[in-house]
Amino acid sequence: MNDLITLALSKGRIFDDSLPLLAAAGIEVSEDPETSRKLILGTSQPGVRVVLVRASDVPTYVEHGGADLGVAGLDVLLEHSDDLAGSGLYVPVDLQIARCRMSVATRADFDYATAVKQGSRIRVASKYTQIARQHFADKGVHVDLIKLYGSMELAPLTGLADAIVDLVSTGSTLKANQLVEVERIMDISARLVVNQAALKLKREPMRRLIDAFARAAG
Ligand code: ATP
Ligand code: MG
Repeated sequence: MNDLITLALSKGRIFDDSLPLLAAAGIEVSEDPETSRKLILGTSQPGVRVVLVRASDVPTYVEHGGADLGVAGLDVLLEHSDDLAGSGLYVPVDLQIARCRMSVATRADFDYATAVKQGSRIRVASKYTQIARQHFADKGVHVDLIKLYGSMELAPLTGLADAIVDLVSTGSTLKANQLVEVERIMDISARLVVNQAALKLKREPMRRLIDAFARAAG
């Protein structure tokens, strides 16, 4: 049986923050994605390779078996599916990396508390429409959701929306655009996501890798 294990990572903070966890598992990646153009990277373990994909494509690769496992932000996982287990995905480890939070932000002159209390309809722009939809549904707040792919801070400044739902870490991007964080929705961190079928087929090496990640994440 071919026991080659393929791990999906995205370039940038997920890759960078995964390196120490891989090192703790005895795995060194052979090339630096910032200087190499390769999308498939070998490692110091002949049975393990890394594929580089877009952050939001990690769950797609793992779900369809293009990778056996991957590292993805909770934001990406929640946007991917509201039934991860039903998609054949298993999320066994909170890796505690790429930590940030999902928050609601508005212009300083927008009275969010009153708008929410009065049950008025608010216009919310976000890349994270599933998380936003669920959050406001839980609060019983009516929202018109506007899907964006980036530069969300611009939406309240141009009148496109009353509020945005976005990832916040230090808050400096919000501040630079004179927006205020008015509600924290949830803490976000990156998770190990595993193809359940691959776990059955390559049980031993997959288990060893998952356990090593879990120990390294502490
Ligand atoms: P892309 O840049 O390809 O559109 P992305 O913005 O989701 O995708 P990254 O910026 O690499 O990709 O972010 C990867 C993950 O890191 C996110 O899914 C999120 O979980 C986390 N993250 C995003 N922004 C921050 C931040 N400011 N601080 C900490 N973690 C963050
Ligand atoms: Mg980004």
